[in-house]
Amino acid sequence: MFIKGQWLSEGSQGKFAVLNPANGETVAEVANGGVREAKTAIEAAAEAFPDWSAQTAHKRSALLYKAYERLVSRKDEIAEILTLEQGKPLRAATTEVQYAADFLLWFAEEAKRIYGETIPSARPDQRFLVRHEPVGVVAAVTPWNYPISMVTRKLGPALAAGCTIVLKPAEATPLCAIEMVKIFEEVGLPEGVVNLVTSSDPKPIGEEFVTNPLVRKLTFTGSTAVGKMLAGKAAGNMKRVSCELGGHAPFIVCQDADPVHAAKGLQLVKFLNTGQACISPNRVFVHESMVEPFKETLAGRVSKMKAGNGLEAGIAIGPLVNSAAVDKVDAQVKDAVAKGAEVVCGGEQLTDNGLEKGHFFAPTVLNNIKPNMTIYREETFGPVAAIVPYSDDDDVLAMANDTSYGLAAYVYTQNLSRAMRLYEGLNFGIIGINDINPSAASAPFGGTKDSGMGREGAREGIFEYLETKLGGFSI
Ligand code: NAD
Repeated sequence: MFIKGQWLSEGSQGKFAVLNPANGETVAEVANGGVREAKTAIEAAAEAFPDWSAQTAHKRSALLYKAYERLVSRKDEIAEILTLEQGKPLRAATTEVQYAADFLLWFAEEAKRIYGETIPSARPDQRFLVRHEPVGVVAAVTPWNYPISMVTRKLGPALAAGCTIVLKPAEATPLCAIEMVKIFEEVGLPEGVVNLVTSSDPKPIGEEFVTNPLVRKLTFTGSTAVGKMLAGKAAGNMKRVSCELGGHAPFIVCQDADPVHAAKGLQLVKFLNTGQACISPNRVFVHESMVEPFKETLAGRVSKMKAGNGLEAGIAIGPLVNSAAVDKVDAQVKDAVAKGAEVVCGGEQLTDNGLEKGHFFAPTVLNNIKPNMTIYREETFGPVAAIVPYSDDDDVLAMANDTSYGLAAYVYTQNLSRAMRLYEGLNFGIIGINDINPSAASAPFGGTKDSGMGREGAREGIFEYLETKLGGFSI
């Protein structure tokens, strides 16, 4: 834990172990904090706020730029820590650290572009001036599936805007957050500007975040259930809120698409991070004329994916986060099969060759998914591609939109009019058209409905941390 510029190796609740999901081994022990530390950290952030917010944007930008350079220079080392605590293959971990660094660079640049406005008045003696000011102390809660990029996606814009922060990373993956905070300390961020509270029990800390009057903004990434609960309480106390929550992305392969290209795309995005991504396709709508070639290409590629410890060479798919995640995926597959789904490949937990020590599920392709199956409605967060054959464009749009979530959607088509109609008609925050990676530090990331509110990254990202102040001048 890091509070008011001091590292604590133990908290009021002692320490807790961080386990490697690939083999169950203890990777490290970290301080276990509680309400006491959350309160102290919030107070430290409140104390640091006047000075930090009064720094010039150029000074804040320079510190963020230094943090960016330092993170890039430690990319390989931090990627290894990421794989140890989270499980994703080392190559994917390295890509994530670079993605995390991209947010620091982007917001180092955006810090200098928090422009105000002058607005013409109807009165000749009046002038309107608008400026944007930092909201104040930010409480940030981050998830385990992207343990470093979700930290910088919040801390980058918050620091650029002039806010001070208390960060609570996920209990499964605090180590990357610790490394990131070390970097902020090394580059000379003043005491109290970033505080880190690690804990095995997030509930009391979350409660403190949403009730403490010194906190002005909550930024949360995680499950819809927890996000709704925290956002409700925070809103009740008039705190600003942004949430990135769950998803249930449709992936539509139209009748004019190249099925091989689409299947390659699906394999890459669906099995990314073992399916543990909020933008992971959960329903793969394939035009009935394309199902056979699509299925064949997909199954051919998926059955070659080797599962194992992400630090070993040739591993394409890592473990799930814990045994509960394996049980959830297994239950969804069993439910689908019992209701008539075809198992094209995979379909079971992996327990041979040492994999029984970790939380592995075979990369799986199911076909003939129907709306009465759990997987059609509930987020899987695991390595299962669920194919839903369809026959009509209008039907597929209605089926794709028939979800309480609204984060990401994907379309494969070679027809420009169809692409535009689907882009406009899909009720989601992020639409990939023949593109499986519609995310970057420069692009707005976020969803609608049960997928949350607010946007991260891009020009928009910094406004989540700013208030608008109007000045009316009579001259
Ligand atoms: P979770 O909501 O239980 O945990 C996420 C974070 O919230 C962790 O830091 C956890 O410690 C914290 N948390 C849990 N209960 C809390 C409480 N009462 N008060 C304060 N903090 C609390 O989520 P999970 O089930 O571990 O993670 C998977 C979910 O996260 C999925 O549904 C996924 O879609 C979502 N997610 C979304 C995004 C996104 O960008 N939209 C990214 C990653 C994960």
